[in-house]
Amino acid sequence: MSALTIARSGAQVVLIDENDQPGGQLCKQIHKFFGSKDHRAGVRGYRIATELLEDCAAAGVEILTDTVVFSIQDCTLGLAHRDDCFYLKAQAIILATGASENPLAFPGSTLPGVMGAGAAQTFVNLHRVLPGRRVLMVGGGNVGLIVSYQLLQAGAQVVGVVEALPRLSGYQVHAAKIKRAGVPIWTGHTVLEANGDQEVQEVTVAAVDDHFQPLPGSERTLAVDTICLAVGLTPLAELAWQAGCRFFYQSALGGQVPLHSVNMESTVPHIYVAGDMAGVEEASTALEEGTIAGLAAATAMGCSVPQAELEAAQERLASLRRGPFGDLRQRAKSELIKRWTDCHPGE
Ligand SMILES: Cc1cc2nc3c(=O)[nH]c(=O)nc-3n(C[C@H](O)[C@H](O)[C@H](O)COP(=O)(O)OP(=O)(O)OC[C@H]3O[C@@H](n4cnc5c(N)ncnc54)[C@H](O)[C@@H]3O)c2cc1C
Repeated sequence: MSALTIARSGAQVVLIDENDQPGGQLCKQIHKFFGSKDHRAGVRGYRIATELLEDCAAAGVEILTDTVVFSIQDCTLGLAHRDDCFYLKAQAIILATGASENPLAFPGSTLPGVMGAGAAQTFVNLHRVLPGRRVLMVGGGNVGLIVSYQLLQAGAQVVGVVEALPRLSGYQVHAAKIKRAGVPIWTGHTVLEANGDQEVQEVTVAAVDDHFQPLPGSERTLAVDTICLAVGLTPLAELAWQAGCRFFYQSALGGQVPLHSVNMESTVPHIYVAGDMAGVEEASTALEEGTIAGLAAATAMGCSVPQAELEAAQERLASLRRGPFGDLRQRAKSELIKRWTDCHPGE
């Protein structure tokens, strides 16, 4: 979204992605998004990615795929493409590198068959390969619920979803779909251990008390060949660390996140941040942050950007964070912006 916004403002843009198709998580999201029309409700995630890429191509964005950014210094990026390595100097850089899945350590967690839910989603939706036939999902947030449903659609049996919290953090609409398909959801439960000879063959889960300690006698052992972990995401912000950006820990946003202004500028001049790497949220918020970062970077490079456009994007972003689901994230973001402002007195 940033690349498109800047290109439409008249600047030259290079979009770099390590995959053979840019679009990030959207490329593997086969479900229809919901929310408002402004945020493409009713459109499937991968379609959103395709539309954005078509718009980028039409706006003249140069797209480098299969290219990893491995370094960043003084607005110069180090790039690796297959056997080549080269450098690119930019007037402004927008980092939108996403997030990585959190692991969970338990006896047997290194056995083949234990994987991130996002990895299972990549198997099924991108490569059309079932990672296993009998799956336990660990984590009842939106990722765990959505991937459970997609595994069912692909023909796997989901033997259950365990969630350590007393209630699910994912949306009811996603939980209802898998409940209707007969998948048991065990809240207040965790995974104790996985066992198997060469790979996962069974898993033991148990209820937990208020301190997340297993309750003796509540153990149950299930035959599975796959255990998917959907226990949160951590911002993938190494490039921002390398660039010297200042960070602050915000658990509501996934951990250490770069401080940024209301316009998504980091504490290092000319470097902007957007999306999950600036705090794990949703595609809709990532798109709006990308728009804001793009408009701000274009303005800083001397392009003429109507102030009203920036304000409208900021208002749309604020509206996404209103209400019970967004409130915690809104407060965490306000703290980041306040700390950024403290580093830039007078701005
Ligand atoms: C299962 C699942 C379901 C979801 N469902 C919804 C939903 O219904 N609605 C919603 O709003 N959100 C949903 N989300 C969340 C949404 O997908 C993310 O919030 C959004 O994709 C974040 O966008 P992003 O651009 O910040 O990161 P990403 O989409 O992760 O994109 C980052 C890109 O940067 C690339 N990259 C990273 N590092 C480098 C590097 N060094 N060099 C080159 N390239 C690099 C990555 O490969 C990737 O392509 C869902 C997420 C998951 C996992």
